Amino acid sequence: MDFMATCPRCQASIAGDSIKCPRCQLPLKAHGHPGIPLHRADQGESLCLSCQYHFDDSCTYPQRPVATTCTLYQPVSTAPSPSSPPAEPTAWKIQRWLGRHGALIAITGLLGLSLLLVLSR
Ligand code: SF4
Ligand SMILES: [Zn+2]
Repeated sequence: MDFMATCPRCQASIAGDSIKCPRCQLPLKAHGHPGIPLHRADQGESLCLSCQYHFDDSCTYPQRPVATTCTLYQPVSTAPSPSSPPAEPTAWKIQRWLGRHGALIAITGLLGLSLLLVLSR
């Protein structure tokens, strides 16, 4: 247990690395992984309206501009200055690459599988 945090829903004290609140079961980390923080907006608000990636128009997430939870949220106030642009998160690069090339990967996989089946006869 590294540090204590508070559940944003029920205010229970929880370990900082908890993946969900033990009292109300609210997910606190993304994909059930303690290393992926899941940022959460206050009730009725959007995270995007205070996110650096919304303002620099680099976000391609479909939930923008009304995301209430997000793994990549970067508060504007803590973002690096424009003279040193923020490094793009690796997870984001991978997700965007897969999004752009997903169809190509699937087609290539199917062709490879077909070729293997033909050659194995
Ligand atoms: S990274 Fe998340 S919070 Fe930021 S603009 Fe995109 S969807 Fe909104
Ligand atoms: Zn809770």
